[in-house]
Amino acid sequence: MAGRRTFRTRAVVLDRTKLGETDLILTLLAEDGRELRAVAKGARKPGGRLAARVELFSETDFLLAAGRSLDVVSEASLRDAHDRLRGDYERVAAASAVAEVARLTCFEDAPDAFLYPICSRALAACEEAADQPHLDLVAAAYAWKVLAHGGWRPELSACCACGDRAVSWLSAAAGGALCSSCAREVAGAQEVSASQLAWVRALLGCTFDELLAQPVDAETAVFLLGTAHAWAATHLDARLRAMEFCLSA
Ligand SMILES: [Zn+2]
Repeated sequence: MAGRRTFRTRAVVLDRTKLGETDLILTLLAEDGRELRAVAKGARKPGGRLAARVELFSETDFLLAAGRSLDVVSEASLRDAHDRLRGDYERVAAASAVAEVARLTCFEDAPDAFLYPICSRALAACEEAADQPHLDLVAAAYAWKVLAHGGWRPELSACCACGDRAVSWLSAAAGGALCSSCAREVAGAQEVSASQLAWVRALLGCTFDELLAQPVDAETAVFLLGTAHAWAATHLDARLRAMEFCLSA
């Protein structure tokens, strides 16, 4: 490793892939919003010191040695393990949906100061959520907020095809809300109530603290996770398996 440039960054562990007998390749969201991929040597050795510092969803301060394609972890010190996720099946499922969207919306050469704090906050909100509907709400809100920030903000106040303000349908492919006559022309458009549309606006506009404190029923929460899934899968053009799992549970 001598001679390699090293750098420090805080990062959240979004994904882990096995490498060889005892190593891991980590996919990280760095504090500056870039995606990093780094080899953690010996991270799968039983009882190894590194193992606990590179768990999924952990926020860790890394010293990384820059490599040609992959960086190498030189030091790691844990900042926030998000301990209350561990061993809780539903919380892990929601946090996995957050990490999946995070992975698909950060890029190696594109720093973005918005991405790390909101991912960190969403993972903490997965620890704080009082019940399953609020976990669904957190995963849905995270996806809507990050996609909107990335340039896929839905038009919700007027029909995105004709501008009519009487909207009662939603379509990811069309880019937001639709009036009933335009909705007839759009395959897959979903009829929505005024309160459901208000909820989508709330996911975009409210903080996680506000959403966690807001009463929500299970049916609304599942509807919102479904719309977030449709929006993210359409605009990221990706299969979102962790979110699909939350929807099927
Ligand atoms: Zn219209």
